[in-house]
Amino acid sequence: MQELRERIKRELEELGRQDRYRTLPHVTARRGKYIELEGKPLVNLSSNDYLGLGDERALLAGYLEQCIERGYAMTSSSSRLLTGNHPLYGELEEALAALYGRESAMVFNSGYHANIGILPALCGRHDLVLSDRLNHASIIDGMKIAEGSSQRFRHRDYDHLEELLDAAAGRYRQIFILSESVFSMDGDLADLLRLVELKKRYDALLIVDEAHGAGVFGERGLGLCETAGVVPDIDIIVGTFGKSFASTGAYAVMDNIFREYLTNTMRPFIFTTALPPAVLGWSLLTLEIQSSMSRERQQLLQLAAKLRDALIAEGFDVPGESHIVPVITGSNEKAVSLAARLRDAGFLCLPVRPPTVPPNSARIRLSLRSILEWEDISALPGLFTGGMAS
Ligand code: PMP
Repeated sequence: MQELRERIKRELEELGRQDRYRTLPHVTARRGKYIELEGKPLVNLSSNDYLGLGDERALLAGYLEQCIERGYAMTSSSSRLLTGNHPLYGELEEALAALYGRESAMVFNSGYHANIGILPALCGRHDLVLSDRLNHASIIDGMKIAEGSSQRFRHRDYDHLEELLDAAAGRYRQIFILSESVFSMDGDLADLLRLVELKKRYDALLIVDEAHGAGVFGERGLGLCETAGVVPDIDIIVGTFGKSFASTGAYAVMDNIFREYLTNTMRPFIFTTALPPAVLGWSLLTLEIQSSMSRERQQLLQLAAKLRDALIAEGFDVPGESHIVPVITGSNEKAVSLAARLRDAGFLCLPVRPPTVPPNSARIRLSLRSILEWEDISALPGLFTGGMAS
């Protein structure tokens, strides 16, 4: 034990030396555009509540009253396969399937659960997984748990994916292709049309994670798959409730046969306590409300384009084409010092460092929301310029 303690201490010290040491921020309040850290209000540029639904206080108050009237509990007291399967699960899954126009949907406790559960359930040791190199940690963890072989294709490099598919053809029982739609740390977009074309040509199963696309893209907020017109072609579309939908949990839409199989085999679905009814009812409500928020979606994407253009005009490396606007600093130290400078100026934007992003690509990740206006963020390009120079 003593040896373990000493090793852990050394590793923590090393993280500190590399500017990779993490601490939990002390959030004292969250209110609309602002977040209060240690009592100081800051413009919140680090939230995934992209449509601002999490701050609709009147909506929440009305919903909480309903919870009391209808007796929605804060616990389900059991897993879904035992006694936790509240009727709201059925309603929510039916609403999702209807919205996407797909045979069925499943609700999970989180996007993390979805991503570490779906693939390992479907993919056996004779199968191969091909995954975009910048896919989220939860997708990577799912690949680690799955018994199949796995390879990563270069980020959004579909020629590379095609090469890997060619090389693998006939050698595996089933090939799985995994991609995010809107990449969480780069804000850039997968070419879903190309992915669908490849998956069809090679008879692969395509899983797309819309965690950052749902609520932001598509007329009804179904994500980039809706914008690209490929909702029926993606075998499994994963989305989370914890971001645009301002709730907790996650979902996936799919054909009935997969739902039936996952219900019987997906460990993070089977062996966990179900979500509380109060959360399920709120997800049902926000899912419906967001489906008609296309004006907010447009405003958000226009705001992001304006900020991205202004930062690029100042000479910054700002990849992507969505509401996630990353400003690459390269060094961890620069990202940390810029974040501190922005915080002094009244903005909360957190530095993102390896291992969340590849080495030497530390960044400030600005995540915009439809409730922000240009006046709220117009000072940012100037602040970045001053910070990079110093
Ligand atoms: N997928 C992606 C792409 C994500 O960014 C996240 C959360 N950051 C998740 C899945 C996990 O979702 P959840 O927070 O619901 O566990």
